Amino acid sequence: MKTKIFEKDELDESTLDKIGEDIRNGALVIFPTETVYGIGANAYDENASKRIFEAKGRPSDNPLIVHVDSLEMADECMEEDIRKYKNIISRLWPGPITFIFKKSSSVPLTVTGGKNTVGIRFPSNKISQKIIKHSGVPIAAPSANISGKPSSTRINHVIKDFLNRVDYIISDGDCFFGLESTIIDLSGDAPTLLRPGPISVEDIENIIPNLEVPDFVYAKIDYSGPVLSPGMKYKHYSPDIQLVLIDSEDFINEVRNIYREGDIIFCDDNMLRLLPEDFDRISLGNSDNLYDIAKNIFSFLRLDFDTEKKYRRIICQGFSNSGIGLAIMNRLRKAADVILE
Ligand code: AMP
Ligand code: MG
Repeated sequence: MKTKIFEKDELDESTLDKIGEDIRNGALVIFPTETVYGIGANAYDENASKRIFEAKGRPSDNPLIVHVDSLEMADECMEEDIRKYKNIISRLWPGPITFIFKKSSSVPLTVTGGKNTVGIRFPSNKISQKIIKHSGVPIAAPSANISGKPSSTRINHVIKDFLNRVDYIISDGDCFFGLESTIIDLSGDAPTLLRPGPISVEDIENIIPNLEVPDFVYAKIDYSGPVLSPGMKYKHYSPDIQLVLIDSEDFINEVRNIYREGDIIFCDDNMLRLLPEDFDRISLGNSDNLYDIAKNIFSFLRLDFDTEKKYRRIICQGFSNSGIGLAIMNRLRKAADVILE
Protein backbone atom coordinates (compact mmCIF):
# COMPACT_ATOMS: atom_id res chain seq x y z
CA MET A 1 0.00 0.00 0.00
CA LYS A 2 1.31 3.45 -0.87
CA THR A 3 0.37 6.12 1.67
CA LYS A 4 -0.82 9.46 0.31
CA ILE A 5 0.58 12.25 2.48
CA PHE A 6 -1.05 15.69 2.68
CA GLU A 7 0.03 18.88 4.42
CA LYS A 8 -2.94 20.71 5.96
CA ASP A 9 -2.53 23.55 3.41
CA GLU A 10 -3.08 21.09 0.56
CA LEU A 11 -6.53 20.13 1.83
CA ASP A 12 -8.83 21.94 -0.62
CA GLU A 13 -12.51 21.01 -0.82
CA SER A 14 -12.13 18.41 -3.57
CA THR A 15 -9.24 16.69 -1.77
CA LEU A 16 -11.26 16.63 1.45
CA ASP A 17 -14.26 15.21 -0.42
CA LYS A 18 -12.11 12.40 -1.85
CA ILE A 19 -10.56 11.58 1.56
CA GLY A 20 -14.03 11.67 3.13
CA GLU A 21 -15.44 9.33 0.50
CA ASP A 22 -12.53 6.93 0.96
CA ILE A 23 -13.05 6.95 4.75
CA ARG A 24 -16.73 6.10 4.28
CA ASN A 25 -15.59 3.21 2.09
CA GLY A 26 -13.13 1.78 4.61
CA ALA A 27 -9.85 3.73 4.27
CA LEU A 28 -7.37 4.02 7.16
CA VAL A 29 -6.34 7.63 7.82
CA ILE A 30 -3.88 9.20 10.23
CA PHE A 31 -5.01 12.69 11.15
CA PRO A 32 -4.00 15.38 13.66
CA THR A 33 -5.97 16.27 16.77
CA GLU A 34 -5.18 18.72 19.57
CA THR A 35 -4.12 15.78 21.81
CA VAL A 36 -2.07 13.31 19.73
CA TYR A 37 -2.23 12.00 16.13
CA GLY A 38 -5.05 9.48 15.62
CA ILE A 39 -5.23 6.46 13.31
CA GLY A 40 -8.84 6.40 12.20
CA ALA A 41 -11.51 4.63 10.19
CA ASN A 42 -15.29 4.69 9.72
CA ALA A 43 -16.67 3.84 13.19
CA TYR A 44 -19.81 2.26 11.67
CA ASP A 45 -17.77 -0.15 9.54
CA GLU A 46 -16.60 -3.20 11.45
CA ASN A 47 -14.02 -4.24 8.85
CA ALA A 48 -12.53 -0.76 8.60
CA SER A 49 -12.16 -0.63 12.38
CA LYS A 50 -10.49 -4.04 12.40
CA ARG A 51 -7.75 -2.56 10.19
CA ILE A 52 -6.89 -0.14 13.01
CA PHE A 53 -6.30 -2.97 15.48
CA GLU A 54 -4.16 -4.80 12.91
CA ALA A 55 -2.05 -1.76 11.98
CA LYS A 56 -1.34 -0.92 15.62
CA GLY A 57 -1.02 -4.48 16.90
CA ARG A 58 -3.66 -3.47 19.46
CA PRO A 59 -5.41 -6.14 21.59
CA SER A 60 -8.99 -6.49 20.33
CA ASP A 61 -10.56 -5.83 23.76
CA ASN A 62 -8.97 -2.37 24.06
CA PRO A 63 -11.76 -0.05 22.81
CA LEU A 64 -11.34 2.83 20.36
CA ILE A 65 -12.50 6.39 20.94
CA VAL A 66 -15.12 7.55 18.42
CA HIS A 67 -14.54 11.07 17.06
CA VAL A 68 -17.47 13.25 16.03
CA ASP A 69 -17.92 16.77 14.65
CA SER A 70 -21.30 17.57 16.18
CA LEU A 71 -23.60 16.71 19.07
CA GLU A 72 -26.02 15.14 16.56
CA MET A 73 -23.34 12.72 15.40
CA ALA A 74 -22.48 11.89 19.04
CA ASP A 75 -26.17 11.30 19.74
CA GLU A 76 -26.30 8.67 16.96
CA CYS A 77 -23.58 6.69 18.72
CA MET A 78 -25.21 6.59 22.14
CA GLU A 79 -28.26 4.90 23.60
CA GLU A 80 -29.49 7.81 25.71
CA ASP A 81 -30.51 11.24 24.48
CA ILE A 82 -27.42 13.43 24.51
CA ARG A 83 -29.50 16.38 25.76
CA LYS A 84 -29.47 14.75 29.20
CA TYR A 85 -25.77 15.66 29.39
CA LYS A 86 -25.97 19.04 27.71
CA ASN A 87 -24.84 21.03 30.76
CA ILE A 88 -21.61 19.11 31.04
CA ILE A 89 -20.88 18.61 27.37
CA SER A 90 -21.58 22.12 26.13
CA ARG A 91 -18.91 23.44 28.52
CA LEU A 92 -16.21 20.91 27.60
CA TRP A 93 -16.71 20.12 23.89
CA PRO A 94 -15.16 20.60 21.43
CA GLY A 95 -11.95 19.79 23.26
CA PRO A 96 -9.48 17.24 24.63
CA ILE A 97 -12.00 15.25 26.70
CA THR A 98 -13.74 11.93 26.02
CA PHE A 99 -17.01 10.82 27.59
CA ILE A 100 -18.13 7.21 28.00
CA PHE A 101 -21.84 6.52 27.41
CA LYS A 102 -23.97 3.43 26.80
CA LYS A 103 -23.60 2.72 23.10
CA SER A 104 -26.28 2.64 20.41
CA SER A 105 -26.65 -0.25 17.96
CA SER A 106 -24.94 1.83 15.23
CA VAL A 107 -21.54 1.30 16.84
CA PRO A 108 -20.21 -2.24 16.32
CA LEU A 109 -18.77 -4.16 19.27
CA THR A 110 -15.44 -4.38 17.41
CA VAL A 111 -15.02 -0.63 18.00
CA THR A 112 -15.89 -0.81 21.70
CA GLY A 113 -13.77 -3.88 22.42
CA GLY A 114 -16.91 -5.90 23.16
CA LYS A 115 -18.28 -3.41 25.70
CA ASN A 116 -21.82 -2.00 25.68
CA THR A 117 -20.38 1.48 26.26
CA VAL A 118 -18.64 3.82 23.84
CA GLY A 119 -16.02 6.56 24.30
CA ILE A 120 -16.91 9.67 22.27
CA ARG A 121 -14.89 12.83 21.63
CA PHE A 122 -15.55 16.03 19.67
CA PRO A 123 -12.03 17.33 18.96
CA SER A 124 -11.31 21.06 18.61
CA ASN A 125 -8.52 20.72 16.01
CA LYS A 126 -9.88 22.24 12.79
CA ILE A 127 -8.31 19.64 10.47
CA SER A 128 -9.80 16.76 12.43
CA GLN A 129 -13.21 18.48 12.32
CA LYS A 130 -12.95 18.86 8.52
CA ILE A 131 -11.95 15.23 8.02
CA ILE A 132 -14.91 14.01 10.09
CA LYS A 133 -17.31 16.44 8.42
CA HIS A 134 -16.30 15.42 4.90
CA SER A 135 -16.51 11.73 5.72
CA GLY A 136 -20.00 12.21 7.17
CA VAL A 137 -19.50 9.36 9.65
CA PRO A 138 -17.95 9.17 13.12
CA ILE A 139 -14.29 8.16 13.02
CA ALA A 140 -12.96 5.54 15.45
CA ALA A 141 -9.39 6.49 16.24
CA PRO A 142 -6.88 5.51 18.90
CA SER A 143 -3.46 7.13 19.12
CA ALA A 144 -1.30 6.61 16.02
CA ASN A 145 1.48 4.54 17.55
CA ILE A 146 2.40 0.87 17.60
CA SER A 147 0.56 -0.63 20.58
CA GLY A 148 2.49 -0.19 23.85
CA LYS A 149 4.78 2.55 22.51
CA PRO A 150 4.63 6.31 23.19
CA SER A 151 1.81 8.12 21.36
CA SER A 152 2.68 10.11 18.23
CA THR A 153 2.69 13.86 18.75
CA ARG A 154 4.82 14.86 15.75
CA ILE A 155 4.48 14.02 12.08
CA ASN A 156 7.89 12.30 11.83
CA HIS A 157 6.76 9.75 14.48
CA VAL A 158 3.68 8.92 12.42
CA ILE A 159 5.69 8.50 9.24
CA LYS A 160 8.26 6.33 10.98
CA ASP A 161 5.60 3.95 12.37
CA PHE A 162 3.00 3.89 9.58
CA LEU A 163 4.34 4.92 6.15
CA ASN A 164 2.79 2.61 3.55
CA ARG A 165 0.71 0.86 6.22
CA VAL A 166 -2.24 3.31 6.03
CA ASP A 167 -4.08 4.95 3.11
CA TYR A 168 -3.58 8.58 4.16
CA ILE A 169 -1.42 10.64 6.50
CA ILE A 170 -2.54 14.23 7.12
CA SER A 171 0.11 16.50 8.61
CA ASP A 172 -0.53 19.44 10.93
CA GLY A 173 2.87 19.76 12.63
CA ASP A 174 3.17 19.21 16.38
CA CYS A 175 0.07 18.39 18.40
CA PHE A 176 -1.09 21.24 20.67
CA PHE A 177 -1.35 19.36 23.98
CA GLY A 178 0.78 16.29 23.24
CA LEU A 179 -1.11 14.07 25.73
CA GLU A 180 -4.24 11.97 25.16
CA SER A 181 -7.67 13.19 26.17
CA THR A 182 -9.10 13.19 29.66
CA ILE A 183 -11.66 10.36 29.91
CA ILE A 184 -14.81 10.63 32.05
CA ASP A 185 -17.21 7.72 32.41
CA LEU A 186 -20.81 8.96 32.40
CA SER A 187 -22.33 5.50 31.79
CA GLY A 188 -22.61 4.47 35.45
CA ASP A 189 -24.15 5.88 38.62
CA ALA A 190 -21.35 8.33 39.44
CA PRO A 191 -19.26 10.32 36.94
CA THR A 192 -15.77 8.81 37.17
CA LEU A 193 -12.39 9.92 35.87
CA LEU A 194 -10.82 7.00 33.97
CA ARG A 195 -7.79 8.81 32.55
CA PRO A 196 -6.34 12.22 33.47
CA GLY A 197 -5.56 14.45 30.50
CA PRO A 198 -5.27 18.07 29.32
CA ILE A 199 -8.54 19.11 31.01
CA SER A 200 -7.56 18.96 34.67
CA VAL A 201 -9.48 17.39 37.56
CA GLU A 202 -9.71 20.83 39.15
CA ASP A 203 -11.42 22.26 36.03
CA ILE A 204 -13.80 19.32 35.68
CA GLU A 205 -14.82 19.49 39.35
CA ASN A 206 -16.08 23.02 38.71
CA ILE A 207 -18.53 21.52 36.24
CA ILE A 208 -19.03 18.05 37.75
CA PRO A 209 -18.70 18.52 41.55
CA ASN A 210 -19.44 14.84 42.31
CA LEU A 211 -16.64 13.55 40.03
CA GLU A 212 -15.01 10.40 41.41
CA VAL A 213 -11.25 10.14 41.04
CA PRO A 214 -10.16 6.53 41.64
CA ASP A 215 -6.68 5.75 43.02
CA PHE A 216 -5.60 4.03 39.81
CA VAL A 217 -5.58 7.41 38.07
CA TYR A 218 -2.44 8.22 40.00
CA ALA A 219 -0.98 4.91 38.73
CA LYS A 220 0.74 4.69 42.12
CA ILE A 221 -0.72 1.38 43.11
CA ASP A 222 -0.68 -1.98 41.39
CA TYR A 223 -4.34 -1.84 40.55
CA SER A 224 -6.10 -5.15 41.18
CA GLY A 225 -9.81 -4.22 41.08
CA PRO A 226 -12.17 -4.63 38.13
CA VAL A 227 -10.83 -3.39 34.80
CA LEU A 228 -12.96 -0.28 34.20
CA SER A 229 -11.03 0.77 31.15
CA PRO A 230 -9.26 -2.02 29.25
CA GLY A 231 -6.35 0.31 28.53
CA MET A 232 -5.49 -0.05 32.22
CA LYS A 233 -4.22 -3.58 31.96
CA TYR A 234 -1.76 -3.17 29.10
CA LYS A 235 1.78 -1.83 29.13
CA HIS A 236 1.80 1.69 27.82
CA TYR A 237 3.98 4.42 26.40
CA SER A 238 7.18 2.36 26.77
CA PRO A 239 10.39 3.77 25.32
CA ASP A 240 12.81 1.37 23.63
CA ILE A 241 15.21 1.55 26.60
CA GLN A 242 14.73 1.32 30.36
CA LEU A 243 12.98 4.24 32.09
CA VAL A 244 13.61 5.10 35.74
CA LEU A 245 11.27 7.70 37.23
CA ILE A 246 12.59 9.53 40.29
CA ASP A 247 9.63 11.13 42.03
CA SER A 248 11.51 12.60 44.97
CA GLU A 249 12.29 16.00 46.49
CA ASP A 250 15.89 14.90 46.52
CA PHE A 251 16.15 14.33 42.76
CA ILE A 252 19.71 15.65 42.41
CA ASN A 253 21.17 13.36 45.07
CA GLU A 254 19.20 10.36 43.84
CA VAL A 255 20.56 10.94 40.33
CA ARG A 256 24.13 11.28 41.63
CA ASN A 257 23.69 7.88 43.29
CA ILE A 258 22.52 5.95 40.26
CA TYR A 259 23.90 7.82 37.21
CA ARG A 260 26.25 5.86 34.98
CA GLU A 261 27.66 6.12 31.44
CA GLY A 262 24.90 5.58 28.85
CA ASP A 263 22.19 7.28 30.94
CA ILE A 264 20.25 10.30 29.69
CA ILE A 265 18.50 12.48 32.28
CA PHE A 266 15.13 14.09 31.44
CA CYS A 267 14.52 17.10 33.66
CA ASP A 268 13.23 20.68 33.65
CA ASP A 269 15.26 23.86 33.02
CA ASN A 270 16.00 24.33 36.73
CA MET A 271 17.32 20.83 37.36
CA LEU A 272 19.37 21.05 34.18
CA ARG A 273 21.36 23.90 35.73
CA LEU A 274 21.76 22.11 39.06
CA LEU A 275 22.97 18.77 37.69
CA PRO A 276 26.71 18.13 37.15
CA GLU A 277 27.80 19.33 33.70
CA ASP A 278 29.37 16.03 32.71
CA PHE A 279 26.05 14.16 33.13
CA ASP A 280 24.15 13.59 29.84
CA ARG A 281 20.93 15.55 30.38
CA ILE A 282 18.20 17.31 28.47
CA SER A 283 15.42 19.69 29.48
CA LEU A 284 11.76 18.89 28.79
CA GLY A 285 10.97 22.58 29.33
CA ASN A 286 10.20 24.99 32.12
CA SER A 287 8.08 23.22 34.75
CA ASP A 288 6.42 26.50 35.77
CA ASN A 289 4.45 25.82 32.60
CA LEU A 290 3.55 22.12 32.72
CA TYR A 291 1.86 22.39 29.29
CA ASP A 292 5.40 22.71 27.90
CA ILE A 293 6.46 19.48 29.54
CA ALA A 294 3.26 17.72 28.39
CA LYS A 295 3.91 18.76 24.81
CA ASN A 296 7.42 17.30 24.82
CA ILE A 297 7.16 14.19 26.93
CA PHE A 298 6.08 11.61 24.33
CA SER A 299 8.50 12.76 21.66
CA PHE A 300 11.36 12.70 24.18
CA LEU A 301 10.38 9.15 25.20
CA ARG A 302 10.97 8.27 21.54
CA LEU A 303 14.50 9.70 21.94
CA ASP A 304 13.92 11.73 18.80
CA PHE A 305 16.18 14.60 19.90
CA ASP A 306 19.33 12.58 19.27
CA THR A 307 19.62 9.80 16.75
CA GLU A 308 23.42 9.58 16.91
CA LYS A 309 24.01 8.55 20.49
CA LYS A 310 23.00 5.14 21.80
CA TYR A 311 21.56 5.65 25.29
CA ARG A 312 20.96 2.67 27.53
CA ARG A 313 18.63 4.16 30.14
CA ILE A 314 16.44 7.23 30.75
CA ILE A 315 16.29 8.78 34.21
CA CYS A 316 13.31 11.14 34.46
CA GLN A 317 12.37 13.60 37.17
CA GLY A 318 8.86 13.63 38.68
CA PHE A 319 6.52 16.61 38.31
CA SER A 320 3.66 18.11 40.32
CA ASN A 321 0.36 16.20 40.31
CA SER A 322 -1.66 19.37 39.89
CA GLY A 323 -3.34 20.56 36.67
CA ILE A 324 -2.01 18.77 33.60
CA GLY A 325 0.80 17.46 35.84
CA LEU A 326 -1.48 14.60 36.95
CA ALA A 327 -1.72 13.44 33.33
CA ILE A 328 2.05 13.74 32.82
CA MET A 329 2.74 11.72 35.96
CA ASN A 330 0.09 9.11 35.03
CA ARG A 331 1.84 8.51 31.67
CA LEU A 332 5.33 8.50 33.19
CA ARG A 333 4.34 6.05 35.93
CA LYS A 334 2.83 3.70 33.35
CA ALA A 335 5.85 3.98 31.09
CA ALA A 336 8.43 3.51 33.88
CA ASP A 337 10.21 0.22 34.54
CA VAL A 338 11.33 1.47 37.97
CA ILE A 339 9.87 4.23 40.18
CA LEU A 340 12.00 5.65 43.01
CA GLU A 341 10.12 7.78 45.56
P1 AMP B 1 -6.21 5.69 22.94
O1 AMP B 1 -7.16 6.34 21.98
O2 AMP B 1 -5.17 4.82 22.28
O3 AMP B 1 -5.63 6.70 23.86
O4 AMP B 1 -7.06 4.65 23.79
C1 AMP B 1 -8.38 4.87 24.14
C2 AMP B 1 -8.56 4.69 25.61
O5 AMP B 1 -9.91 4.96 25.93
C3 AMP B 1 -8.25 3.26 26.04
O6 AMP B 1 -7.40 3.26 27.18
C4 AMP B 1 -9.59 2.70 26.40
O7 AMP B 1 -9.50 1.78 27.46
C5 AMP B 1 -10.43 3.94 26.75
N1 AMP B 1 -11.81 3.70 26.34
C6 AMP B 1 -12.34 3.83 25.12
N2 AMP B 1 -13.63 3.42 25.10
C7 AMP B 1 -13.92 3.01 26.35
C8 AMP B 1 -15.07 2.45 26.99
N3 AMP B 1 -16.18 2.22 26.31
N4 AMP B 1 -14.99 2.15 28.30
C9 AMP B 1 -13.87 2.39 29.00
N5 AMP B 1 -12.74 2.88 28.46
C10 AMP B 1 -12.76 3.20 27.16
MG1 MG C 1 -3.00 5.01 22.92
